[in-house]
Amino acid sequence: MTNLLPEMAEIWQQTLNWEPNQQQQQKFQQLYELILTGNQQLNLTRITDPQEFWEKHLWDSLRGIAPQGQFIPSLSENASIIDIGTGAGFPGMPVAITMPNCTITLLDSTRKKINFINESLAQLTLSNAKTLVGRAEEIGHHPQHRKTYDIALIRAVGNASVCAEYTLPFLKQGGLAIIYRGNWTEEETKSLQNAVNQLGGIIESLEQFTTPLTNSIRHCIYLRKIVNTPASFPRGAGVATQKPLS
Ligand code: SAM
Repeated sequence: MTNLLPEMAEIWQQTLNWEPNQQQQQKFQQLYELILTGNQQLNLTRITDPQEFWEKHLWDSLRGIAPQGQFIPSLSENASIIDIGTGAGFPGMPVAITMPNCTITLLDSTRKKINFINESLAQLTLSNAKTLVGRAEEIGHHPQHRKTYDIALIRAVGNASVCAEYTLPFLKQGGLAIIYRGNWTEEETKSLQNAVNQLGGIIESLEQFTTPLTNSIRHCIYLRKIVNTPASFPRGAGVATQKPLS
């Protein structure tokens, strides 16, 4: 199996002012191998080349929790995090490996993907992560999940307004939603602004950065929850996608 780029230490250092310890490096490697093996049976990801995996799945996952290139300080304490629409475990799994003091809930509506993650968590002996099968629109109303997380992550699940509607209900007041995006336009900021106003949040910051290997453009949008999200959100299954708030 291809070795997952141990020489990346310097780039981790330069871009995030951090580098994985030996155990974390081993877990990244193991995660890569689990994904490659899992891909033989499940359609987990098209990204299998080691450099691409490193940049798009590992680095990108961690860059989101490091606005301005510094990890969010509360992550060194015991923040509770949810990754909504985690798929094969991104960005949540790399975050769980990197932040052992945090508890991470990995949520996806596809049981097969969650089964794969459960097996991977056991292999990786990651005790700070757990899984949940279900739709954000339903789980976001459950009292044991609504208003309970410090940070909500979401990558490649829908447009930004959909992501806002899925994430903000899960957050405690003062919590942070992180929306991972590729491209971004001014029009998107306007409709997202209207959406977050209705959901009890504000757009705290929007960051553009370039990836270290292929110089691709990425954006992360950071939403802060300032007041309770009205009980009518998230709307029923599929409604946010069909009629995004704007
Ligand atoms: N976040 C991962 C990543 O960036 O690699 C996976 C992205 S994949 C394109 C989208 C995932 O979101 C799928 O695994 C899908 O099952 C899940 N998903 C879509 N809508 C969802 C919803 N309403 N609630 C929970 N999961 C959802």
